[in-house]
Amino acid sequence: MTEIAEPPLDIKRRGLMLVLSSPSGAGKSTIAHHLLESDPRFSLSVSVTTRQRRGSEIEGRHYRFIGRDEFERLRDGDALLEWAEVHGNFYGTPRAAAEKAMQEGRDMLFDIDWQGARQLQEQARGDIVSIFILPPSMAELKRRLLRRNEDSADTIAMRLKNSRVEIERWRDYDYVVVNTDLNQAFSEVRAIIDAERLRRDRRPGLFDFTAALLSEDV
Ligand code: 5GP
Repeated sequence: MTEIAEPPLDIKRRGLMLVLSSPSGAGKSTIAHHLLESDPRFSLSVSVTTRQRRGSEIEGRHYRFIGRDEFERLRDGDALLEWAEVHGNFYGTPRAAAEKAMQEGRDMLFDIDWQGARQLQEQARGDIVSIFILPPSMAELKRRLLRRNEDSADTIAMRLKNSRVEIERWRDYDYVVVNTDLNQAFSEVRAIIDAERLRRDRRPGLFDFTAALLSEDV
């Protein structure tokens, strides 16, 4: 049998980059919120956006709300890991915070659209786990968008129309979760994360552990 060289022992654990995408209203933000509340290993990548702040949103926590000029300055200065125009506004992931978290081995949650997910995949394929959240039906998606009651009727209509284009991207993702029931959808996301964290290539500590196991005299 051919001997396969093991990677060196000092391999650094890199954090998991969890990408959550969905059409607006499918429940992604609620799932992301539960995850951040219940799992201290995750931090949220706070995006910059040129969109108007909603009443319930907090500057610096949900987004950094910036003007178009500042967005262009960040984008052109390579300060964004990825960026996209979504529903007529610009959104981007600040590079510095994400790279720091990854280098420190922390897990990071990216609430970004399919265009951003694709750009991250191109840059950091091995670190990314991507989940697409689907609504149970278009009628329910519309109901949820209306119930949220935070956007104008025009914005809701545009988001609903755009959702069809977004849903078509489901094949680009590692996992797909249908959010019929929030608790069920959350447990499925939880199961995906738990399994991904157990992957051999995310556990450099196994080198030492197995070496210790094998050196044990019984
Ligand atoms: P919302 O305006 O509802 O907060 O977000 C609209 C869409 O933009 C959502 O699909 C959200 O995931 C996406 N989004 C938020 N931040 C980013 C980002 O930094 N990059 C990309 N590509 N999409 C983002």
